[in-house]
Amino acid sequence: MSERAVTTEDWSAVAADLDAQDPLAPFAERFEPAEGLRAYFDGNSLGRPVRGTAQELARFVEQEWGTRLIRGWDEAWMRWPEQTGDLVAAAALGAAAGQTVVADSTTVMLYKMLRALADGQVAADPARTQIVVDTDNFPTDRYVAEGVAAERGLELVWIESDPASGVTVEQVAEVVGERTAVVLLSHVAYRSGYLADARAITRLVHESGGLVLWDLCHSAGSVPIELDAWEVDSAVGCTYKYLNGGPGSPAFAYLASRHHGILQQPIQGWMGRRDPFLMGPGYQPAAGVRSLVSGTPPVVSMVPLRLSVEQLAEAGIGAVRTKSLALTDLAWRIVESWPAALGVTIASPREHERRGGHITIRRPDFREVNGRLWQEGVIPDFRAPDGLRLGLAPLSTSFAEVATGLEAIRQQLT
Ligand SMILES: *Cc1c(COP(=O)(O)O)cnc(C)c1O
Repeated sequence: MSERAVTTEDWSAVAADLDAQDPLAPFAERFEPAEGLRAYFDGNSLGRPVRGTAQELARFVEQEWGTRLIRGWDEAWMRWPEQTGDLVAAAALGAAAGQTVVADSTTVMLYKMLRALADGQVAADPARTQIVVDTDNFPTDRYVAEGVAAERGLELVWIESDPASGVTVEQVAEVVGERTAVVLLSHVAYRSGYLADARAITRLVHESGGLVLWDLCHSAGSVPIELDAWEVDSAVGCTYKYLNGGPGSPAFAYLASRHHGILQQPIQGWMGRRDPFLMGPGYQPAAGVRSLVSGTPPVVSMVPLRLSVEQLAEAGIGAVRTKSLALTDLAWRIVESWPAALGVTIASPREHERRGGHITIRRPDFREVNGRLWQEGVIPDFRAPDGLRLGLAPLSTSFAEVATGLEAIRQQLT
């Protein structure tokens, strides 16, 4: 049987059919239009602004900050870290209210939570001195783990992860034991898009007496998460990727309620203190998840996030995941239809069970190719040494966009 090359027309027709059947298609119209943009494949790195974000920010400035002034803190903003955390938890994390806050950056929250978990473990059992992390985890996660280990005299145990896939249950089983304090892993690997088996890994770590800290930066808003059902101890993630909070929007952090009042994060600020306005001597942590807050909440940065999380809740994370897999499937099929002579390979998991919301393709000249694509309004992102990441945000990305963007990439290669 001869192989029939699928033409550009075929793929745009396939994409048009998929768009016509897509129940989430109307959501694409609910993002700010971007002039000159032909395909945006970076929703996993910086999500697009939801339409109405500018108006909501203006309304906030005029009607809340501008008129309520300092009274706004008592009337509402003081509670925004927990309230916004609950909104994120309900829409994206599978977590009951009262266990999530929005504050700080992901890096700072990773530090706070890793310290809280590690310190709690060492206090309970001084032999638990190991922090487990993987060699291809996102740089900030590795650096924070190195810093905490150095600061607390703990030992790092490295899992050698495959950059084209990710950390397996078997690899975790090999390293955890009676010396494990905390295991810090990414739910979706930032490079390959590998989706770790968070439930099985969490159970395994618990059987060894360890605690888990999941980094959800690349899964929150794209992959269903069940923090409560999986009995996760703690989790941290970005809100500016699939959660569309805007550049530098604050992180979220989850701490399971069974750990409240026991584990304590190290940055003892007045906003996480019981009765902060008593301005009293000595730090006493606030009750519940509020103790994860350290300083004044980044209120203005939560305004776009609150809008986008509402939209995610309306769409439903299950529907988002269904479309996410269909988008990466289409990208996969298109790349596979390219002639082998083009030398493009896919460095992501094929099976749905292990695939997150993005896939990575490789070719030695992709750094230069990416630069040219950006100039023509086709925006993937480049990850050294030779990867183009195709991050397909289900609410803002159409199937037609996938076909258009990949055709633009292919044309760069001939
Ligand atoms: C994007 C990302 C971060 C970013 O941390 P910041 O403090 O927001 O810069 C951290 N971890 C992972 C896995 C990421 O993908």
